[in-house]
Amino acid sequence: MSSEKHFVLSLYTRTWVRDSHGLYDYESSQTRNLNAVLADSVIIARKKHEIKTVTAKNEMQPDEEMLIDVKYEKNDRYILENPVEIMMEPSEKNITDLSNKIWYVLKQEENNGNNQQTITNTNDDYYLCKNDIIKLGRVKYALNEIHIPSKENNIDIDLPPNSNSDYNIESINMNSQPVFNFIFQAKQCESINEDENLCKICYGNSNESSNPLVHLCNCQGGIRFAHYFCIKKWMETKLVIKENEKKTVKSFNIKAFNCEICKVPYPFSFRIDNNNERFDLIEIERPENDYIILESLNQVKENSNIKSIHVIQLTDDCITIGRGHESDVRINDISVSRSHAKLQYDKNSGRLLLRDLKSKFGTLVLLKKPLTIKERKIHLQIGRTYIEASLMGMKEFEKLKKEKRTKHHAQQENNNNNNMNNNNNMNNNNNNDNNNNVDPNSQGNSLAMTGLIQK
Ligand SMILES: [Zn+2]
Ligand SMILES: [Zn+2]
Repeated sequence: MSSEKHFVLSLYTRTWVRDSHGLYDYESSQTRNLNAVLADSVIIARKKHEIKTVTAKNEMQPDEEMLIDVKYEKNDRYILENPVEIMMEPSEKNITDLSNKIWYVLKQEENNGNNQQTITNTNDDYYLCKNDIIKLGRVKYALNEIHIPSKENNIDIDLPPNSNSDYNIESINMNSQPVFNFIFQAKQCESINEDENLCKICYGNSNESSNPLVHLCNCQGGIRFAHYFCIKKWMETKLVIKENEKKTVKSFNIKAFNCEICKVPYPFSFRIDNNNERFDLIEIERPENDYIILESLNQVKENSNIKSIHVIQLTDDCITIGRGHESDVRINDISVSRSHAKLQYDKNSGRLLLRDLKSKFGTLVLLKKPLTIKERKIHLQIGRTYIEASLMGMKEFEKLKKEKRTKHHAQQENNNNNNMNNNNNMNNNNNNDNNNNVDPNSQGNSLAMTGLIQK
């Protein structure tokens, strides 16, 4: 077998059979598992609970979801990608679609003894960057502001501390553009129609630059416009401000941050046309010292949109995030563990560490750029599919193939021989408890499965 390749891409995938807000239950045994070895560019897709490969995007079926676009480049580079659009409208659909992008998994292990289902996560801690999107359970947050004046001109601010680590996930997200365009482009009333240029809240028709009549939702006709001050006042009646015990976290929560009539979520901020002035619907005091702002992404429950904004002062004290009352950042959602994650600030480096605290559904960080896989195993999640990816040396790969050949029956032997001369093969192990009903021929010629590989 002549090959210039020194490595193949080794993948271990587990797909949770339940589909619940893009969550993956790390404790569930109800998963479909698949080991695969790739040696070429391919698209990894999910069809119901099965993971399969497709050679090109235009060959994907409507009931298949793209999980990863694997690109093989010379010198053993395997690049994983599922492009994230930037500066999108933060619509419910766009936010939900993010679930099927590639997320880096932070997960501290519970020791379950010899339970085979246990996943040993070897991902490093994560150092947050501006514009990152994190996911705790099903609740997503954008890191919209980082204010560290002493480090403003220090380009080292984002550099990882242990540069000997074989690669740093932070460097992928560093200096990336925001995924969502949170500043809504609003239309100011220009109507000369007497019936239409009224505020739907106070019925007034004044229209000043400091308090414009604006259109922020989907209402049409006579209830199209409202004054900026009127909407803001109305939101303030629903605003609940909470502070943690140490007075380092101030949380602004509004349970129905949306138009009462058409139910469309309101934007936190808007601009009128190309004017630079920014109007905020929630008045937020910003601390003088180092702080960050986490803004929850729209979460619509029973037609009402929940908005939470957490202003977090960065001190030496660690900040806990969770559903429990004692948490500094409290998230009232059943998918969030009582004690879910923590933030630890290092004043000297200006770096902010995010660590999972043995949460049920893990703490995830959205990857916004392609990820090159090296030898260290990387743990990723794409919706309800969990993936471990690493490079496998050719020697190890050949050894596994040999082992498998001696183990298997004649019929599988035939399948193997058909594909052994092919460098683009994929080895498959459908080791779930259900019947193995995968047809080897369904993968196409270049990606035919060659049987079992056991790790
Ligand atoms: Zn008004
Ligand atoms: Zn409306």
